[in-house]
Amino acid sequence: MKLLLVIPQAWGEQALDTALAAGQQLAGADGFAVMLIGPQACSRPIEVAASAGAKTVCQVLHPDLLAVEDPYVLACAVAQALAGILSGVSETQLVLLPPGPAGEELAALLADLLDGQHLGRCLSLRVEGEAIFAERAAWGGRLRITLQVESGLAFACLRAARGESGAPATVPVCTIDLDDPLPCELALDKRESVERLPPLEGANLVVSGGRGVNEQGFGLLEALALRLGASLGGSLPAVDAGLVPVLRQVGVSGKFVSPQVYLAVGISGTLQHLAGVSLDSRIVAINPDPEADIFKVATLGIAAPWESLLPALLDALGPQP
Ligand SMILES: Cc1cc2nc3c(=O)[nH]c(=O)nc-3n(C[C@H](O)[C@H](O)[C@H](O)COP(=O)(O)OP(=O)(O)OC[C@H]3O[C@@H](n4cnc5c(N)ncnc54)[C@H](O)[C@@H]3O)c2cc1C
Repeated sequence: MKLLLVIPQAWGEQALDTALAAGQQLAGADGFAVMLIGPQACSRPIEVAASAGAKTVCQVLHPDLLAVEDPYVLACAVAQALAGILSGVSETQLVLLPPGPAGEELAALLADLLDGQHLGRCLSLRVEGEAIFAERAAWGGRLRITLQVESGLAFACLRAARGESGAPATVPVCTIDLDDPLPCELALDKRESVERLPPLEGANLVVSGGRGVNEQGFGLLEALALRLGASLGGSLPAVDAGLVPVLRQVGVSGKFVSPQVYLAVGISGTLQHLAGVSLDSRIVAINPDPEADIFKVATLGIAAPWESLLPALLDALGPQP
């Protein structure tokens, strides 16, 4: 198993230190390699990586990465560099990003762009031969699950105990100058829908989906939100299923919303979810189970599946004016 740390220079020393700490914790006999990504060559992070025990350091440079904040641009740059380095390598590769929301987002984007496995925020990582075992929290921390990757590329974040820096050392350094334009088209396509929608904070109308709504249904909810100028939210299971970003989770462990109208589709109405919706909001619920708790708090309830309502509702609203 090969271990590679990918560290954007713009994320600063803390990202560098925490990523190196995770690398030190996981490194086997082969050690770990470091990829530093930024607009121009920089000697300080190379020295830090070398004294932390990196076997090699590769600098990936692109002028567009000057002060870039956009994770899609970074992901495209890293994906281009990795595609060149990794082609033809058959063993399992674990790519670690600095722990934290930005690293987790970059890990997910890279897994998508490079067809790898996304392990996300890991509580622990273990390597046995070529297999990687990642322990993760799920269901708002109520469960711990172990994911296993047998081959191919995996992307993860791990917060390890503080690392140790050794004596100054020298390390082989390679440089990859990227010239393809950034960002790549795939990333732009993927960014569109959710970013176009207003945030939950301050929204007058929130369209929200739960476990009863699948990917196709969330596509319709997004279209509805766009059509109505509404924000999009979701319950915890919808977030866990990757149907809506965690920043749009409504509830006790998510956001508190106080729109005039909260459209709850495929949401049963648990206390943990309703704790995130103001008592002053009027709830409109769509759920085929007439016994669902959401109907006890809804101003308007429709006991039907979303499949029979959302397409008709979008049709009735017509195209965007
Ligand atoms: C500490 C802690 C914190 C938590 N924090 C949160 C939080 O912040 N937010 C949150 O949401 N949850 C939170 N939860 C989880 C919470 O307990 C519930 O598990 C969750 O709210 C249930 O989400 P749901 O309504 O989407 O799913 P479910 O309860 O499974 O309900 C799904 C609903 O979809 C309906 N349905 C099925 N098919 C269709 C269809 N075709 N069309 C329409 N409806 C359909 C079903 O009838 C059902 O009522 C937390 C739990 C804990 C323990």
